[in-house]
Amino acid sequence: MTIHEAVRQSFRRVRRFFSPGRIIAIVLLLLLALGVLSFYLGYLSSLPAPFVGELEDVSAIQRLLVVAPHCDDEVISSGGLIREVLLGGGQVRVVIVTNGDGSFTGTMVEFRKLYPKPQDYLRSGAGRQRESLNALGSLGVPPEDVFFLSYPDRGILPLWKTFWDDDMPYRSPFTRLTQSPYDLTYNPQAVYSGHSLLSDLCSILKDFQPDAVVAPHPHDTHPDHWASGAFTALAVAMQKEQIRPRLLLYLVHRGDYPLPRGYLPFAPLLPPLRLVNSTFTWGKATLTDEIRDQKGDAIELYKSQLPLLGEFSRSFVRQNELFCEFVPHNTARLVHDQDITPVPSLWRTVEGSEVTPIMEDSARDTVSQEFGAAADFVALYAARSERELWISAEMRGKPSRLVAYSCLVRAANGREVSKEQIVYPLNVRSRPTSETKDRFVLTRFNLEELGYPYTVVVSFEAYYPGGRTIDRIGWAIVNLD
Ligand SMILES: [Zn+2]
Repeated sequence: MTIHEAVRQSFRRVRRFFSPGRIIAIVLLLLLALGVLSFYLGYLSSLPAPFVGELEDVSAIQRLLVVAPHCDDEVISSGGLIREVLLGGGQVRVVIVTNGDGSFTGTMVEFRKLYPKPQDYLRSGAGRQRESLNALGSLGVPPEDVFFLSYPDRGILPLWKTFWDDDMPYRSPFTRLTQSPYDLTYNPQAVYSGHSLLSDLCSILKDFQPDAVVAPHPHDTHPDHWASGAFTALAVAMQKEQIRPRLLLYLVHRGDYPLPRGYLPFAPLLPPLRLVNSTFTWGKATLTDEIRDQKGDAIELYKSQLPLLGEFSRSFVRQNELFCEFVPHNTARLVHDQDITPVPSLWRTVEGSEVTPIMEDSARDTVSQEFGAAADFVALYAARSERELWISAEMRGKPSRLVAYSCLVRAANGREVSKEQIVYPLNVRSRPTSETKDRFVLTRFNLEELGYPYTVVVSFEAYYPGGRTIDRIGWAIVNLD
């Protein structure tokens, strides 16, 4: 047999092995393996912690402000706490950021239409406002204490990142509007912009002067939840003159959280084990049986949500509600004229102490994080010098050329809010304000360009250029005073 024939024969063998049927079987097997892995990682990332202590000083809360991204999050997260504060003689106000008018499947099911029209989304939003008023009313919150900001559903992250100014408002792809048409709107003049949303939150805070604010946690994976938390954190951090309220953060959407799912009123609600670390202090607000049942009844009043999300919502009717107390750090001060390094353990501080993370992040949450250690964040660090703010993100692996990193800050000095975004690798025009070493990416912001802020809300993202986000760490509040 000549070499030629031998090669031809092995080709034939390979071709026979890869018959169309076999190829389909291999692809199906690979997809199945990927599915099993992602299910496993999702499950692993939300395995509940075995034990969590009680939230401190719940009975001391006299003026509670609850911020909900959509109509139902207020009761899902805090229905019991709301009731408890009211029974203790305190006051409660509720802010609902969007009317949840951007759910394609929800609106499809509600109006039995294959292609809902803008007016269907608006009808759905108005209906959801009524449901919130009913449910909150059943817990003792009168309609005048419920503020519907009426910003666009699924549009809160774009407002945070891009559509900040009033002269370039965001347009909802569902209602096709750039301003709220709802009768129930806190500020009817407001357009869909980040600036307007922040102003609304600031004026409500100023007016009510809460001693505790409840808002979504930065580890909530729903973009509206994440961004509603970021807006609230910035608004709270900007209240410089008043005593800053406690910031209590709640989770609704993350992997399979809460586990187990379903109506289990005697089970505790516990945080995902991977989110229990030195930067997050979780606490249970234990409910009496009566309050828990009232919360359960209130959840049944969100009728439009029950067909699709009933089991999920009822998973929050538990022995307790769960909050993470956010304690902002005082930012470390860097010694003048030191070598620039992304490795925080080498930063020399005026205090002489080691810089500890401002936030820790769970690793291996998704398939793309499992295979992309370079894009899997584990911690975030911050420090300042006279002129610069240093933010360093730590990954599970060394930075890769295939991954892009972006650090976004929204900085406030009491009068203005500025935004700066630094992306690594750098494009040709940008100045070298970011670099990598070991498993760290450092970005440096010029404080003068940020307007000498006294507070900054920061987040880091890793993504394939032009692709979707693989991991995000933060938002986190950095105090610069
Ligand atoms: Zn929600």
